[in-house]
Amino acid sequence: MSGRRYWVSSPPALLEGMEGEIDEADEEKLEAVGGALAELGFMEDRDNVQLVFKTRDLEQACEVARAARAAWAITDNPLDGDSVEITAQPECPRCGRLGRFRDPFCASCGVPMLPAEDIDPDTGAVRPRR
Ligand SMILES: [Zn+2]
Repeated sequence: MSGRRYWVSSPPALLEGMEGEIDEADEEKLEAVGGALAELGFMEDRDNVQLVFKTRDLEQACEVARAARAAWAITDNPLDGDSVEITAQPECPRCGRLGRFRDPFCASCGVPMLPAEDIDPDTGAVRPRR
């Protein structure tokens, strides 16, 4: 197993201010999705409008991503569930420093980072970056 750190990302379920703007049945479903995601351990990402779950365990990342997709499946917007993604974070092969997603080189030793990689939640295999 590689030691990469994996980010499982999901769109947020019920955004602040959405209450009252969507019909009650949808609101309940989104609340349920939000509850399920919180239970799985998803946290709000400070930089982006998304929820993330971070782990060094690829198998766990796949399990969490599939569970998140299943949670989203109760809504009428399966597209949101399809956007649950797993991404390996850039990492320095020499010192192990974790990079930001657009860092090509390690900020400490200057060597090329192991690049970000998209992982298929169903197979755990790397798939081409979009
Ligand atoms: Zn380094």
